[in-house]
Amino acid sequence: MREVSCPACGHKIEVSQKALSLRCPACTQPIQLDDFVLEQSTEGRLKTMGLVAIAPGCDMSGEVVCGAFRNEGQFEGQVLVYGTAALLAGSQTQASVTARAFEAAGGSTFVGRLMVGPRVGLAPTDAHRFDAPASRDQTARVPAVVILRQTATASPQVV
Ligand SMILES: [Zn+2]
Repeated sequence: MREVSCPACGHKIEVSQKALSLRCPACTQPIQLDDFVLEQSTEGRLKTMGLVAIAPGCDMSGEVVCGAFRNEGQFEGQVLVYGTAALLAGSQTQASVTARAFEAAGGSTFVGRLMVGPRVGLAPTDAHRFDAPASRDQTARVPAVVILRQTATASPQVV
């Protein structure tokens, strides 16, 4: 079993590892759980409460809403992660990232805005705020806000 959050209402749901979709018992919104491993250049929007992984040498630009995010290639855009956003060695990320947890390996590059906090997606408006241009007011409501503008080391430094 694994736990996912409904992106529409924040309701927490236990689902089996094999489930590919379900309907939120609280708000009846359909929730996709497929894992995506991107191996070709991709542009657009991806939404799943499963994993979105960008393979080495692959680049994606656009918006991602997912349960877990792993970048081993290049990403440019916006990411809302209901779990961990992981940037692996050699990856390049130029993005606005909102996640419950953030990991950046040595040799990964991150430029952009990072919002990390336990309340990601728990309020009904969070998912919608993700689509709106970020403002000071929005970031101030997230428990922890850091802005990184440098190559990440084993533990990212805040500037
Ligand atoms: Zn729901």
